[in-house]
Amino acid sequence: MLPDFRYVRPASLSEAIKELSAPESRLHAGGTDLLGCLRDGVFSARKLVSVSSVAELRGIAPAAGGGLRIGALSTLAEIASHRTIAEQYSALAQAAASAASPQLRNQGTLGGNLCQRPRCWYFRGDFHCFRKGGEMCYAPKGENEFHCIFGGDGCYMVHPSDLAPALIALEARARIAGPKGRRMVPLDSFFVPPSKDITKETVLEQGEILTEVLLPPPAALRSTYRKARVRASWDFALAGVAVALRTKGDTIGSARVVLSGVAPVPWRAVAAEKALLNRGVDAAAAAEAAVHAVAGAEPLPQNGYKVDLVRGIVEEALLALA
Ligand SMILES: Cc1cc2nc3c(=O)[nH]c(=O)nc-3n(C[C@H](O)[C@H](O)[C@H](O)COP(=O)(O)OP(=O)(O)OC[C@H]3O[C@@H](n4cnc5c(N)ncnc54)[C@H](O)[C@@H]3O)c2cc1C
Repeated sequence: MLPDFRYVRPASLSEAIKELSAPESRLHAGGTDLLGCLRDGVFSARKLVSVSSVAELRGIAPAAGGGLRIGALSTLAEIASHRTIAEQYSALAQAAASAASPQLRNQGTLGGNLCQRPRCWYFRGDFHCFRKGGEMCYAPKGENEFHCIFGGDGCYMVHPSDLAPALIALEARARIAGPKGRRMVPLDSFFVPPSKDITKETVLEQGEILTEVLLPPPAALRSTYRKARVRASWDFALAGVAVALRTKGDTIGSARVVLSGVAPVPWRAVAAEKALLNRGVDAAAAAEAAVHAVAGAEPLPQNGYKVDLVRGIVEEALLALA
């Protein structure tokens, strides 16, 4: 059952920040994740602050100085079908199209996708786990088929977002507004691993709002997003990968390989990125990078299959860009 809460719908960003600065106030965007969490008692709220009337959070348009600005209230459906995104930032359009179901993509927003809470069944269930202030993670000795193989430092959840790895691969930055003013962080530093703070997933503080995401100009950029899941119709990633390459002539000048579904944060496969530099985009480079992508994996008893899945999906993604 949903708890009792007040519902406010401020018309401006500054009012929304003020409303959200009070304890137990929660931002409501599309509500597809928030309302489930409230209903299931994952957390509570005394006040919901709808940002649907804040015009500043809307729109997809060229950014000042080049690149693209995507407002936090853009829906996943808008992102998936946006022509510039599909043509110039393919990984992002593909990631948005692969997330959830058509109904959820019409309602769910970019901001909500990046700030959604973990899908771990212990976190969502009646278990007082580390992330909820308890004293243990139940995954290592429990059912861990869908948990992480990288970065499980006390908490073995996987980050649920498909858009996050794509945006990190595309070198996006997040603009944040809050009671102390505005700041910009590379999306790569937006997510908080359990080794830093096990109780939060993003750098956002109370009262802060993710207002927009900025993509750099797409010069010499090729990108793609691949995802393996149990149900093809809609499902979270068992493992996924966003690859973005910037070419210099016939070779790779810079590479980002970011994994989804395998770590508590979107996971940069740094060894694979390095292995791609100054190579041609070809089958040999793809096979080698795929092996590097699983370096350091530490599977739990039931999820060793993810190692092979990552290797295969990384190779497939790189071949698609060849
Ligand atoms: C059945 C199901 C399947 C799904 N499958 C996938 C999938 O395959 N891949 C995937 O990536 N996602 C998946 N999702 C998640 C889905 O994409 C998110 O629920 C959705 O994007 C959240 O957006 P929203 O606007 O509804 O957020 P809300 O539910 O309104 O908010 C979610 C959280 O983010 C916070 N928040 C929202 N916007 C902001 C902002 N601008 N600044 C700061 N905080 C903010 C809210 O306070 C809340 O805590 C699935 C969800 C469901 C229910």
